[in-house]
Amino acid sequence: MPAWVVVGTQWGDEGKGKATDLLADDVEYVVRYQGGNNAGHTIIAGDPTHPRTLKLHLVPSGVLYPNVTPVIGDGVVLDPGVLLEELDTLVAQGIDVSKLKISGNAHLIMPYHRELDRVTERYLGRQKLGTTKRGIGPTYADKAARVGLRVQDLYDMKIFREKLDVVLKEKNAVLSRVYNRLPMRAADIETEYAVYAERLRPYIADTMTLLHDGLEDGKTVLLEGAQGTLLDLDHGTYPFVTSSNPVAGGALTGAGLGPKDVERVIGITKAYVTRVGAGPFPTELGGESSVQRSAASGDPTGELGERMTDVGQEYGTTTGRRRRVGWFDAVLARYAARVNGLTEHFLTKLDVLSAFETLRVCRAYRYQGTDYDHFPPHQSIFHHAEPVYDQLPGWGDDLTAVGDYADLPKEARAYVDRLEELCGVPIRWVSVGPARSQTLERT
Ligand code: GDP
Repeated sequence: MPAWVVVGTQWGDEGKGKATDLLADDVEYVVRYQGGNNAGHTIIAGDPTHPRTLKLHLVPSGVLYPNVTPVIGDGVVLDPGVLLEELDTLVAQGIDVSKLKISGNAHLIMPYHRELDRVTERYLGRQKLGTTKRGIGPTYADKAARVGLRVQDLYDMKIFREKLDVVLKEKNAVLSRVYNRLPMRAADIETEYAVYAERLRPYIADTMTLLHDGLEDGKTVLLEGAQGTLLDLDHGTYPFVTSSNPVAGGALTGAGLGPKDVERVIGITKAYVTRVGAGPFPTELGGESSVQRSAASGDPTGELGERMTDVGQEYGTTTGRRRRVGWFDAVLARYAARVNGLTEHFLTKLDVLSAFETLRVCRAYRYQGTDYDHFPPHQSIFHHAEPVYDQLPGWGDDLTAVGDYADLPKEARAYVDRLEELCGVPIRWVSVGPARSQTLERT
C-alpha cells in the first residue's frame, strides 16, 4: 500500500493539522518528516458538542487515533525537553502516546543551538529572519556541517560526550567571544540529556524499517509536513525560509522512503494567503506591502487586511505572532503544484471569506510590462511584481453550518471553481470551519 504526503502549499499555517487529522482515519502511520517544534498544529477533536482543542508542536497529529502509529522521522530536529513536555501535556489530557516512535537518526536540538538562535537574530537587527528562536536553524546547520548530535547518540553516553566536547569548544568560543555570552558546561548538558535519554528510550525505533515493513504489509503511511512550500530551504522565498525541506521531496528523505512509494500528494491550501515573519508577499493586504500593491488589492487603508486577520484568527499556534494576510495567489499555487507534484488540494478556511463583499484572486504577476503566470526566476521580480487580479463576487452568508458542498452559495462554488481552474489541480475537499465535521467533500 502507498504513502500519502500532506504538504502546505503556501507559507505554512494552511490548516495541515486539521487535514491530517481527518485523513488519519484511513491510515496506519502518520510521520513528521522535517522541522522541529517551530511548527504548530491546532486540532479541534472530539464530538462537536464537546470539542477539545489540541495544540501540537512536534508530535504528529495522528496521535489522537488508536489506529495510528505516530512517527517522528529521520529528517526532524528534536528538542527532547520540549518533546517530553508536550507528551506530558497530552497524557494529562487523556491521550495515549505510548505508540509514538522516534527515529534514532533525528538530530538533537542542544542548549547552544537555542542560545545561538537568540543571539544571532539579535545581531542581525533589521535583517533578521524572524525565526522562532527555538534552535531549529542552528541544529540543521550543524547537521550539514556534520557536527550534530543525533537521538541515537543518547544511547552511548561516551560517544555523546566526545562529540559534545568537540562541538562545544567551538560553540563556546563563538558564544563568549562574538556574542559576549557565558560559555556552557559539557557536564551540565550531559546530565540533562542523560535524563531525557531514559525517558525517551521506550519510543526510539528503527522508523525507516518500520515504515517499509508497514508498506509491504499493505498499511498506509501518511507523511505530514510542517511549514509550507514557500518556506522550503531550496524552493521557497530564500532567505526568508525555514531550515529544512517541507516539499514532497523532503518527505522522502525525511522518512527514508522512495518516490515509487508515494501515491498521493495532497496540497493543503488556504482560500487566501498568510505569511509569518519577513519577506516579500505580493498579494498582501495592508502591512508591509507597497502603496501601489495596496491600491491594486482594493485595500488602501489596510482595513480589509485587519478584517481578514481577525475573522481568520491569524495568529501563530506556537508563537502567537500576528500573521500577515493577503488575497489568494494562483501563481504560488501553480508553483506549489509543480514543486510537489500535487495530485489534489484540500482547501481550508473558505468560511473566512464570507466577511468580504468582493474577492480578488491573483492570476499573474506583472513586472516591467511582462506578465508572469509562473513563479518568476529571479527574486527581484518576485519582490517588485504587481499582482494581476481577477475580481469575484463574495457571498456574505455564513458557511460554517453548511453540510454539503452542493449547498454552498453559488458564488462560493464559483470561487472554488476559479481557484481550481487557475491552479490546475483538483480541489477535493473544502473546509468551512475548524472542526472535523466542517469539511465538504467535492465530488
Ligand atoms: P497548520 O500548521 O497548517 O496545521 O495550521 P494552524 O494549525 O497553524 O492553523 C490553522 C488554524 O485554522 C487552526 O486554528 C485551525 O483550527 C483553523 N482551521 C483549520 N481549518 C479551518 C477552516 O476551514 N476554517 C476556519 N475558520 N478555521 C480553520
